[in-house]
This record gives sequence, C-alpha cells and structure tokens, in this order.
Amino acid sequence: MDASVGVAGRGVPKAGRPEEATAIGVDLGASRLKCALVDRAGAVLSSAVLPTPEGATGIEIAERIAGEIAGFRDGVRGAGAEPAGIGIVVPYFVEGPDWVQRWTTNLPVLEGLPLRPILAERLGGEMRTGNDVSAAVIAEHLFGRGRGVDRLLLMAIGTGISIGVIVHGELLQYSWGTAGDTGHLVVDTEGLQPCTCGGLGCLETVSSGWGLRAEAIRAARDAHEGILATRLEKGQPISTADVASAARQGDAAAIRAFERGAFFLGAALASYLQLFSPQLIVLSGGVMESSDLLLHGIRQSLQRVASPSRLSMLQGVEVSAFPQMGAAIGSASLIMFPDLYLRNPSPMEAQPTT
Ligand SMILES: [Zn+2]
Repeated sequence: MDASVGVAGRGVPKAGRPEEATAIGVDLGASRLKCALVDRAGAVLSSAVLPTPEGATGIEIAERIAGEIAGFRDGVRGAGAEPAGIGIVVPYFVEGPDWVQRWTTNLPVLEGLPLRPILAERLGGEMRTGNDVSAAVIAEHLFGRGRGVDRLLLMAIGTGISIGVIVHGELLQYSWGTAGDTGHLVVDTEGLQPCTCGGLGCLETVSSGWGLRAEAIRAARDAHEGILATRLEKGQPISTADVASAARQGDAAAIRAFERGAFFLGAALASYLQLFSPQLIVLSGGVMESSDLLLHGIRQSLQRVASPSRLSMLQGVEVSAFPQMGAAIGSASLIMFPDLYLRNPSPMEAQPTT
C-alpha cells in the first residue's frame, strides 16, 4: 500500500528512521483485544485477536491487558521488529494524563481506572491513547477509502455506535477526544426502548448489535411464526449472528429488525450531513459484517430523509477498507505520525473541562 497517496492538506508521511518504521496498535474492545504490528504504509505485518481479559477488578483486568500486549511485543521483537511504541485505543472516553477511563458502558469494571500507570509499569516506552473510532477514521484517511478526502465521516456500528470525523485534515475531538457519542442520539421517539446510557430511544437501541437483536426478538414474539419465533418457543438463545442468518433465510422478524436498523442509521447520518457536510461516509464495525443486510437500506434511508442540498455534497457511503483492524492501524498511527490530525501534542488524552 502506498502511504504517499493523499493526506489532504498535510505533509505526506515520510519514510522515517528505521527504528520508527513500525508501531504496535492495540484496539481494546468489550469482547476482543486486537494487537497489530503496523508499518508506515498501514500494512499489518503481524496481528493477534484475543478475548478481552476478564477479572474481578479493573486493576486486575488492566494488568492482564498489559500482559497480553507485552506478550505480543515479545513475539514481534523475537521476529526481528523493533516497534517505536504502542498506541492503545478504547471504545469510550479517556481523561487526563493518567488515562482515566470514563463512561465505560461496555466495559463497566474499568470505570474511573487510571490505565496509563498500570500499562507504563509493565510496558514502558512511548505510549499514546485515544478513542477507537477516532483511530479508525485516521486509518481510513491515511490508508483506506478516505485518502485525499477533505471532509470524512466514519461511523462504527458494533456493540456501540460512534463516529469519527476529519475536516480539512483535522480530527474533530471536542468531546473527550471524539466528535460526540453518536450511539445515544435519540432517533426512535415512537419505540423509546431503554438504552445502556439510561436514556430512551437512542440509536443503539435499534441499530447496534444488541439493538438489532432486541428488535428482532420483540418482532418474533409478535409474529408467532418463523425461524426466530421457533427458537424462542424452544427456549434457544438468539445472538445477533442468528438474527443475521435468519434474515438471509427470509425470517420476517429478522428482516424487519435490519430494515428498521438501517432506516435509523440513515436518519442519524442525515442529521450528520447537516453538522459536518462529509464528502464521504465510511461504515465500519462488527455489525457491518452484515453489510449485505444493511448497506442498501442505509443508502435508501439517507436518500429519503436527508436534505437534498446537503446530500448533493456527499459522494458516497462505503464500507471500510479495514473492517477488522482499522482502530488498531489508527492507534499505531498515533505513534508513527504524532503530528498528523492533532492540534496539540496529546489532545486525544483530553482534559476535563468541568
Ligand atoms: Zn443511549
């Protein structure tokens, strides 16, 4: 992959000294811990996808995370690489120089934990942190679909839903290192299902992995027949993957859940057209593994509800070039290209304003 292609409004990433040629990117998710050795062209040279460690306390989990990252680093060093540092991104917010974990809805045991001291003691060296979706949009802008795009919006749809936005080469991060918490935009004002945030009718209640599953189960209960209704009657568990599989086999409840989910994603994106006027929207995250069930509906919804004038500025809605490793590639980029995208040296480690 050619890193010299189009970093809009910015210097092209340079080859750098050999010792800066690679970095480790870590994407800490609610269920998976992804580690990647990434080079300056955005190529993943080595990777590991592990279950996110469990434990009784945040400290215990953090120590296990540090241990897993150390193990990965030992492995790549053993293979001859000398990564310049470690970027680690999380699916929520990070506060202050000690990386206090905030609003950890999907990893609640880490709430309030200062993560940096625990990682620094075990790992040492250069480290940076930030939000996972902010990292993913950086990866997309440097190496993926967004190369050369002046106004880029990435929406990650998984257990949670978030956006990252780059405008004129700057990463927007006015809310704890992010452009705001998209998953909790209130969209379903008729359904008003309760959300993990304590609110009602948020985008995540209808379009996240758990929201799609909950919607499908509600519809299956009403339907009394079909693949999902039969599973419910037999007391069998239903996962989000089961819902996707049922939709592909024509189950009406599952299809309805994906149609509603896609509609509300399009509606949320229509609102974001008004805020950011993106030229390109990129969709990523685990739920987009079912892009065959969602992408058409999202595009249709956007066409139906968005302002035509804003829509005319949008060139497309595409699936990410890095559906699995985008956040890990972006977090490694925080080490390799620390001066790109960021207004000051460590703004992704945002300071609280109150
Ligand atoms: Zn919410």
